[in-house]
Amino acid sequence: MTDAVAVSNTSDSSAIPAEQPTPQEVGQSAFAVEPIVIIGSGHSGYQLAAALRAQSADVSITVFTADDGALYSKPALSNALAMGKDGDGLQSESALAWEQRLNIRVYPHTRVEQIDRDNRMLHTSIGTYAYSRLVLATGASPIEIPIAGDRTGVVSVNDLVDYRRFRQQLEGKQRIAILGDGLIGCEFANDLIASGFEVAVIGLGQWPMERLIPQQLGEALQSALSAQGVTWALQDSIASIEPASVNPASGYSLQLTSGKQIEADLVLSAVGLKPNVALAAQSGLDVGRGITVNQYGQTSDAHIFSLGDCVETTQGWQPYIAPINQMIPSLVESLLGHLAPVTLSPTPVLVKTPIMPLSVFPVAAGAAGEWVVEQQGDDLTAAFYSPEGVMTGFALLGKQVQSLRAQWLGQLSLKQSAA
Ligand SMILES: Cc1cc2nc3c(=O)[nH]c(=O)nc-3n(C[C@H](O)[C@H](O)[C@H](O)COP(=O)(O)OP(=O)(O)OC[C@H]3O[C@@H](n4cnc5c(N)ncnc54)[C@H](O)[C@@H]3O)c2cc1C
Repeated sequence: MTDAVAVSNTSDSSAIPAEQPTPQEVGQSAFAVEPIVIIGSGHSGYQLAAALRAQSADVSITVFTADDGALYSKPALSNALAMGKDGDGLQSESALAWEQRLNIRVYPHTRVEQIDRDNRMLHTSIGTYAYSRLVLATGASPIEIPIAGDRTGVVSVNDLVDYRRFRQQLEGKQRIAILGDGLIGCEFANDLIASGFEVAVIGLGQWPMERLIPQQLGEALQSALSAQGVTWALQDSIASIEPASVNPASGYSLQLTSGKQIEADLVLSAVGLKPNVALAAQSGLDVGRGITVNQYGQTSDAHIFSLGDCVETTQGWQPYIAPINQMIPSLVESLLGHLAPVTLSPTPVLVKTPIMPLSVFPVAAGAAGEWVVEQQGDDLTAAFYSPEGVMTGFALLGKQVQSLRAQWLGQLSLKQSAA
């Protein structure tokens, strides 16, 4: 993390043949594997760098990151208030500290602008850099929906920099409108209401987290949050925002598409994420919803791998921590020259709504079948069955039923191994 200059590195690129080998071949070849270059310093980029270093004491690893490269836990962004943590509390290490600890190079505030695949060169905001193996770990960015009027009071929180800004903007504010009734919107609603803010959730669903859980569970979660004071404008959205008065401290008046009006001091937009695929797409890599990778985590270019929220694996787009952790051991092997297939095992998403704990094993979008919901004491379980009667997803809502998670996962695993 020293000189911000164009760098030519030391690997013997003459050892790399001119023609592109097929993805299945390159990892098993005797070609130079270094330098390994990772784009992105989120959970994917950082954990991969750490795992590579654990496996090889001397392989050359370089990380380019558009942000400051600080280490933090992104999942904690939506429950940090309740944990009593601000931006500094969430940061576990600076870029410089992990650069030194792992003996790697980290270039913070350095955007990779183009990949010259023919010459295996990166064009970055500070110059060019050669790679032998490249990993795209570029993450995902918040979706912005069009809202007329004054957007100055609209924020989204997708990284530590956003979070620091959000915490500053919260100071002296009381009424927070959350745009988005999905997983992240509900987590923030729980965190903010538990921290003494007034919270209104505005979302398109008929019930919270409609795409992940059935109606009965959504309504139960909604009631639990309502009992804490959260108000809801469902099947609705924000059409426009205007300052409530000439005094900027008076907050904003939100005109909803239903015709309703809500007053708020700040609008937290949590309407979803889109994978960052532009760099891959402009470099001619195959891209679907995310950057397309094969069973080895390889893109359509054998020398380029991809990991994390930017990726679409053979199992779809899964923007969660568990698939990243599961892909890393295989990627390490492959990057070091021995192609190893990735195994993704079913893992539920634990939703951080402590008022009513929820774990979900999401059903594939558009999957045929139906939910079967059962009451268990104060809690609810829901299993999604395909037309053939096979359980393909589930949701467990409430404290007591969380103990069933392993058992329900086992049923899913049985289904997978039978398939
Ligand atoms: C509020 C919130 C709560 C969450 N809670 C959970 C949870 O409870 N459980 C769970 O499993 N998952 C959760 N997730 C999802 C989880 O955090 C992500 O799956 C994971 O952190 C993604 O890590 P990543 O490294 O792939 O992407 P990111 O963290 O987005 O990192 C992408 C990196 O790429 C860099 N970058 C992008 N483009 C370029 C470029 N051109 N040049 C250089 N650098 C570039 C960025 O600067 C950044 O460093 C949550 C997400 C959010 C937003």
